[in-house]
Amino acid sequence: MALYPKLILEALEKVRYPGTGKSIIEMGMVEDDIHIDGNKVSFSILFDKPNDPFLRSVVKAAETAILTYVGEEVEIKGNIGAISKQMVRPEPAKLLPEVKNIIAVSSGKGGVGKSTVTANLAVALTNMGYTVGILDADIYGPSMPKMFCLEESRPLLENIGGRDLIIPAENYGVKILSMGFFVDKDSAVVWRGSMASNALKQLIADGNWGPLDFFLLDLPPGTSDIHLTLVQTLAITGVVVVSTPQEVALADARKGINMFTGEKINVPVLGLVENMAWFTPAELPENKYYIFGKDGCKNLAQELKLPLLGQIPIVQSIREGGDSGKPVALNAESISGMAFAELAQKVVEAVDDRNKNKAATKVVKISPST
Ligand code: ADP
Repeated sequence: MALYPKLILEALEKVRYPGTGKSIIEMGMVEDDIHIDGNKVSFSILFDKPNDPFLRSVVKAAETAILTYVGEEVEIKGNIGAISKQMVRPEPAKLLPEVKNIIAVSSGKGGVGKSTVTANLAVALTNMGYTVGILDADIYGPSMPKMFCLEESRPLLENIGGRDLIIPAENYGVKILSMGFFVDKDSAVVWRGSMASNALKQLIADGNWGPLDFFLLDLPPGTSDIHLTLVQTLAITGVVVVSTPQEVALADARKGINMFTGEKINVPVLGLVENMAWFTPAELPENKYYIFGKDGCKNLAQELKLPLLGQIPIVQSIREGGDSGKPVALNAESISGMAFAELAQKVVEAVDDRNKNKAATKVVKISPST
């Protein structure tokens, strides 16, 4: 019997996706990769998510439809690949080839401590022995130069292999590039989004970053074209979302999470960090005052089934560390230092999980018996 793709498509016309009741052809779920070799037929079905509850039943129904409509002799069992949109997201051009993991740190609202968390996370990761770089992409309010005591620093150019590369500034073992090094605070405010995006792309592509275990992006607050450019430019491993437990901050954090996980961007969220989770006065070490509300991020994380990566209290030394250019995480034994060390540990675990999942779900082949 001569097999041809149209016959297979006709058979698949009869398979409905239980979630909508529509045919999988109508829903555009059958990929354009039908391959016929003698009696052997293979192709892929595209699902929104790798854990789609109907994945196995749809694959089974497709097998049955082909065997019934086209003929028992078709070798189809085990030859239907189930793929998900998350997996087929085109990997952006490979910039930063020597960087293992790229983590974007974001927040819905400004002032919730995103930069403080980025700086201390970087130092805590360095304490663990990892090599770390930060791109301060918070173009309208770059704070990394101050937080790393590098305000006077002006990165130099170095000609490597005929290309002029920007040497990142460095302190406490963390490599840093920030628009704050190139533009004075007042002029950045008037930059158009595209100018900002192009400048950031240049700092990524022309920075002499070298090999790094973690490249942290301190994103501007909210959702903007800059976010879109960066996620399209870089193969981001995942996003860490920082918020205070306060309702208004959480509402904006939720918007940010929706943007990252939406179809247009589709970057995994590694988890949430609750900053300013409580205040403990030095003279009353047992007391916790929930100034911005209690467990707001923890509850949001639970609701969205995302890990809570850390709860960082309000501590005067955290603020002072930021202002004096000596992040508290440098003192790993202090209470705040330990909070950031725990956060770093959780981030490493979340990244490991993510990398394992990515490897395991590259192409999910469904065996006939399942
Ligand atoms: P964002 O990057 O979200 O705008 P910043 O990291 O600049 O926020 O933090 C805003 C202010 O709050 C800074 O002055 C910072 O030192 C302070 N801050 C942030 N987190 C804490 C904390 N956990 N305890 C005390 N002060 C904090």
